Amino acid sequence: MEARTEISSLGEFGLIKRINQGIKNKLPDTIKGIGDDAAVIDLDTGYGLLTSDMLLEGVHFDLTFFPLKHLGYKAIAVNVSDIAAMNGIPHQVTVNLGLSNRFSVEAIDELYEGMKAACTDYNVDLVGGDTSSSLSGLLISVSVFGKVKKDLITYRNTAKPNDILCVTGDLGAAYLGLQLLEREKQVFLANPNMQPELEGNDYVIQRQLRPEARMDVVYELAEAGVLPTAMIDVSDGLASDLLHLCAQSGVGAIVFEDRLPIDDQTFLAATELQISPITAALNGGEDYELLFTVRQDAYELIKNNPKISVIGYVTDNKAEIALHTKGDNRVPITAQGWS
Ligand code: ADP
Ligand code: MG
Repeated sequence: MEARTEISSLGEFGLIKRINQGIKNKLPDTIKGIGDDAAVIDLDTGYGLLTSDMLLEGVHFDLTFFPLKHLGYKAIAVNVSDIAAMNGIPHQVTVNLGLSNRFSVEAIDELYEGMKAACTDYNVDLVGGDTSSSLSGLLISVSVFGKVKKDLITYRNTAKPNDILCVTGDLGAAYLGLQLLEREKQVFLANPNMQPELEGNDYVIQRQLRPEARMDVVYELAEAGVLPTAMIDVSDGLASDLLHLCAQSGVGAIVFEDRLPIDDQTFLAATELQISPITAALNGGEDYELLFTVRQDAYELIKNNPKISVIGYVTDNKAEIALHTKGDNRVPITAQGWS
């Protein structure tokens, strides 16, 4: 009998690793293949960056509470985020759609309103794509092409011991926004006359429905003359993405619990939902903030930027990636992708 291995036994990252092992790139201009936020292509004049991300109805979004306009915006923003993580500038996007007959022309207009708004905000051109019918709802797959000067690219695998660990914005809000939206959906399904109780939670909900890529920080770091030693965007959660950065760089890291940037509204939503705000910040995901390392001598140049928090430091002990708690304990940071 032929062997059959369940995908769940490998998990997302194990599966990508297995795919990667079977691929040997041969072109001299393929600088970086699978393994970073974007592939890197030598354009002689600089590096080209190429990345794809897919959003599937029922897996990544629920149309009962996700406005199509926001969904269109998010589909572009999460891809631009991967270009930002390479310290690059996005240029062109292509959009692939799978559509079931449940969707009207007006619905697609709305989706594209959001995509066009994102293209304006991030200064990118929408240059093509593909459209197909779908038997199971809506599928949106976006690819982005970007550029970066060769000496300004930031990989995941170049963090060094004693570097300072930084993150932009705040963490955990998008996850809690989703939990609130899910909760209100259940309330509504049980009693369609109930009005949603989302007041006071506008920030966490906005973080879920309309995330932004941190291109603003990419430009600000360049202006300040700071080149991160390594960078990744926080899409799966700080824990998971920190583990990627550390594993690929062959380093360890210590994160201080009391340095984790968490918005007041995130704390309130966490209390309301009885979820630990620290767990939301570490494992929530969909923050689309930038996690990066800088040399210690760059500290003076970033310390006054309100968009950047110093959360810890890099060590040479790759066996220890840990949270230094408020009670002065060290607990290992663990994470996994979907399984
Ligand atoms: P990100 O969260 O930054 O989008 P992912 O975790 O999705 O990154 O992917 C990690 C790496 O694996 C990337 O280099 C991505 O291009 C690659 N990858 C993901 N899925 C596949 C696939 N099915 N085939 C080939 N490469 C893949
Ligand atoms: Mg990424």
